Order: sequence, then C-alpha cells, then structure tokens
Amino acid sequence: MNLSSQKFNPDRVIIVGSYQKNQPKSDFDELLEETKLLAKTANLIVVEVFTQGLDKYKSDTYVGKGKLEEISTYCKNSNIYTLLFVDNLTPGQARLITQATEANVVDRTELILSIFAMHARTSIAKMQVELAQLEYSYSKLRNLWQHFSRIEGGIGTRGPGEHQLEIDRRLVQKRISLLKRKVEDVKKTTHEQRKNRENFFKVTLVGYTNSGKSTLFNTLTQSDIYVADKLFATLDSKSKLLFNKAGKVILTDTVGFIRNLPTILISSFYSTLTDVVDADLLLHVIDVSASGMERRIDEVNKVIKDIEAQNIPMLMIFNKVDKAKGLASKFLFKKLSLTYDNSLFISALEKRNINAINEEIERLLLNNEREKKIEIPIKMKSLISFLDKKYGTDKKLYLNEKMSYEYTLNISDSDFLEIKKQVDKYHELQYINS
Ligand code: GDP
Ligand code: MG
Repeated sequence: MNLSSQKFNPDRVIIVGSYQKNQPKSDFDELLEETKLLAKTANLIVVEVFTQGLDKYKSDTYVGKGKLEEISTYCKNSNIYTLLFVDNLTPGQARLITQATEANVVDRTELILSIFAMHARTSIAKMQVELAQLEYSYSKLRNLWQHFSRIEGGIGTRGPGEHQLEIDRRLVQKRISLLKRKVEDVKKTTHEQRKNRENFFKVTLVGYTNSGKSTLFNTLTQSDIYVADKLFATLDSKSKLLFNKAGKVILTDTVGFIRNLPTILISSFYSTLTDVVDADLLLHVIDVSASGMERRIDEVNKVIKDIEAQNIPMLMIFNKVDKAKGLASKFLFKKLSLTYDNSLFISALEKRNINAINEEIERLLLNNEREKKIEIPIKMKSLISFLDKKYGTDKKLYLNEKMSYEYTLNISDSDFLEIKKQVDKYHELQYINS
C-alpha cells in the first residue's frame, strides 16, 4: 500500500452531488462538470465523486443516510477532510452533514467565493469578496447561534459557549459594517474616474465564464492578460484604450457569468457590473463547443436584464469555431445566425474573423449618437439654418468674441465629421482671402 498518498493533504477533496430522478440528468451532469472545473480553479484535487439519484429532495441531509455513511467511511479511510457539494446547502444540512462525517463541508457558494478571494486583484475587489464571504457565513452562523442558544440556554439561562458566540457575532458585524463603508468610499472615487471616460466609445466583453473573453480581449488589444482553462480567471474588469479607424474605444474584459452565480456576488461585483451598464456596446462571447450553449446564453442575458442593461446594443460573438467541425456544426451555425441578428463566428485563439468585429465596432462608433460641441461662424448662414431646422433653435449659444454659435448636439460621429469638414473648409477659405 502506498502510504504517502494516504497522508493528509488539505487540497484533496471529494465531490458530492444529488439529483432528483424525475428531472433531466443532463442538468446535473453539467453542474457536476462545472464543479470539477471550479475545484480545479481552486487548485483542489478531486479524489472521488459521490452522486445519488433521489426520488425526493432531501431537505435534512441532502443525500440519504446510507450514502452519508459511505462517504464518511471513505473519508476516514483515505484521510480526506473536505467535502465539496455541487449545490448550495442550507445551514441545517451543513450542520447535520458535518456531524455525520466530521468533515469540512463546502457548498457551491463557498467554493465560488473562495475562488473570487484567490483571484481578487484590486483592493475594492478584495474588500467586496471578503464582505460577501462574511455575509454568507454570517447567515450560516446566525443559524448555528440560534441552534446553540436553543440547546445550551433555556429561558433565562446562559449556555457555556454562548458568550463566545456573542463576541464572534459582534466582531463579524463590526467588520461587515467597516467593509461596507470602505467599499462605498471607493465607489465614489471610481465614479469620478468613470466620468473621465465618457468621451470614449465603450465596448465591454460579457459572456459565460471560459467562453474566451480574455483571449478575445488579448487578440483585439494584443495585450497579454491571464488566460486559463479555468473558471473565473479574471475577477475585476480590465480596460484598455484601442485606436480604431473611426475613433477611440475603451475595451473592457469582465468576470465571467456562471449559472446560479451567488446573488451575494452579483451585488458585490460593482465594478464589473458598472462596466456592463455603462457600455455603448456589449460583445457577448459564446463558446460554440460547450454543451448547454443555449442555456448559457439565456443565463447571461438574464443577468444583463437583471442589471437593466438589456437595451445596450449587443453583438453575439460565437467563439471557438476552430473546435466545431463537420456538417452538424455547419447546421448549428446556420441556425444560430438565423436566431440571432447580430452574430459573428470567430476564433479568438486562431485569430479568425477578428476583422469583422473591428468593422462592426467601427460602424457602430460612426453611428453612435453622443453629445458633441461644435462652433459655427455666424456667417455660415445656410449651415446654421439647416442645423436649426434639424435640431431646434435652442441648441446654440452665441459666442460674441468668436462671432460664432456654439452648438451642443446629440449626433453621430459621421454627421459630426461632415459638419466639421464644412466648417474647416470655411476657415480655410477665409484664410486664403485674407
Ligand atoms: P474567459 O473566461 O471567457 O475569459 O475565457 P478565456 O479567454 O480565459 O479562455 C478560456 C479557455 O478557452 C482558454 O483555455 C483559451 O485558450 C480557450 N479559448 C479561447 N478562445 C478560443 C478559441 O477561439 N478556440 C479554442 N480552441 N480555444 C479557445
Ligand atoms: Mg477571463
């Protein structure tokens, strides 16, 4: 027997999942695959997987008693102390499973939160993850506290452990409110920074995690940010200025979306979400080779709707076409292009069809209407009457010294360039005649 492999190693874990027999097994299989990928991302080694089909959801212990004993014995024999659950557990379930197995119980949200904690880059992201972790464990602890006060202290008496629990609870609460204040402060400053970006056309990459956003970001910007076949390789958003033929673009890479992303995280990932809400264009990146692709698309669209970003123009970028071969893929692409109006088929890795994205950004940039200011000499009578007719007479301000009107107009870049050309020409003629 190889004893060294039996030694205690905190990174060795077991995955546990149960599903209801009357529901499609494929959903569960997908969830299980995702959990494995999450475990890999958290640098954990999955030693064994225990699954169980149930007739009815087990609200007390999540899996059956027999299964729990089996898991418990396996843990003891192989020196494993951490159980990873594919689903979220209620505080009650977590407590009973811990009692039965004496193992450390980690549910889906806790696993995702720990990955976010590992990868948080900026100080605001670090604070937000800690906050989310505290709030999540606080809700679990609260249940535990209630449990203890029930068993240890009857009415009017104090249980022995209760005093310590009370101190813990206050400390956690104190830390939570401190973090909340700090996060608010940082939000205010980032809001100022964001304002400075307002003159740029903002393009933001969204999409399910692992779909290739960071790879596409690198391809479009030729930069080298971390790309990995793991979930959540990037946490905070990352932006870069791009020069397009039509103007300046700020491209932003964001954290991936994942099914059932803990709501506690959605509210905390402020920076990523504001990048999405503030965008002029969203590039929704989709892995065409992934199973359950359509559901992932819906999942992402749901989040986009939740944060009220559904009216921002969106391009569907079907990525990894290099992986999809054969006739079936051809039909799939055909179907997708019929289903989604604004779709492009690319390979971010092999740099295929990247120009199509650039062209589309260029086109939208030129048609993008934004507020712009332009000075028009009062002598350009026909242009002035044209603008007044088109935009109304209240858009101009008379500048005495310059003998000009300053117009503030909501117009596209191409219209703006057209007007500017005429004004430049006028000045040129003035110069020649003087
Ligand atoms: P993100 O989570 O959406 O940012 O995804 P990443 O950009 O980190 O990519 C996830 C994995 O998919 C990496 O292993 C990439 O190399 C791979 N990948 C990205 N784009 C393509 C592509 O066009 N073709 C193939 N075959 N793999 C890709
Ligand atoms: Mg990424």
